[in-house]
Amino acid sequence: MTVCPDCDLLLEAQMPHPGEKLVCPRCGCTLLAPVENSVEKTMVLSLTGLILFPPAIFLPLLTLDILGLESSGSIFTSAKAMVASGFVFTGIAVFFTSMVIPFIKLLLLFLVSMQISLGKANGATTLMFKAYKKMDEWGMLEVYMIGILVTIIKLLHMAKIEYDVGFFCFIGLMGATILSSSFLDENLYWESIFSQASASKTACQKAADKGEKAVHPA
Ligand SMILES: [Zn+2]
Repeated sequence: MTVCPDCDLLLEAQMPHPGEKLVCPRCGCTLLAPVENSVEKTMVLSLTGLILFPPAIFLPLLTLDILGLESSGSIFTSAKAMVASGFVFTGIAVFFTSMVIPFIKLLLLFLVSMQISLGKANGATTLMFKAYKKMDEWGMLEVYMIGILVTIIKLLHMAKIEYDVGFFCFIGLMGATILSSSFLDENLYWESIFSQASASKTACQKAADKGEKAVHPA
């Protein structure tokens, strides 16, 4: 049995095959959407994101040439400049939503996927996956991307714009982040974490019982 998270309809769910999805007949909410090789795809994409993260954040994104005056900046220097110009709250918000949280999200997703693929998910994996879900609405790389696009469109006629390495790394990072969360089969992740964690608990219990018997051979 499963419950629709949107309209609370109780349904007797049948597991759909990869590529198919189970939709609530009453409100149209997607209940289950299995993805083929979800764990492997999510793990590779989150690792790609982690590799692209430092150059995307610390290397210059764009170089603007206005009447011979060149200026360039990275996401990190722009957040620093905001704080230095007195926009302390905005600077800190940019720092957290476009650097700290997206990085922690990718790291958690990679660690959870790796533990599941190794068959070693445990209580800590549950906490990490819960933290990942909690942080979901706080990562705002996409908003930063819109800001960059608006800048490019606004300055297209006024300045010569050169795209730097950081820009392409940032596009790659965005792609890896979006794809990693779209390939994430949440149901499969929870099922795998639960079954692997229960199996390791049972194994620990059995080992403890054996140890006790060895100490008291009654
Ligand atoms: Zn529904």
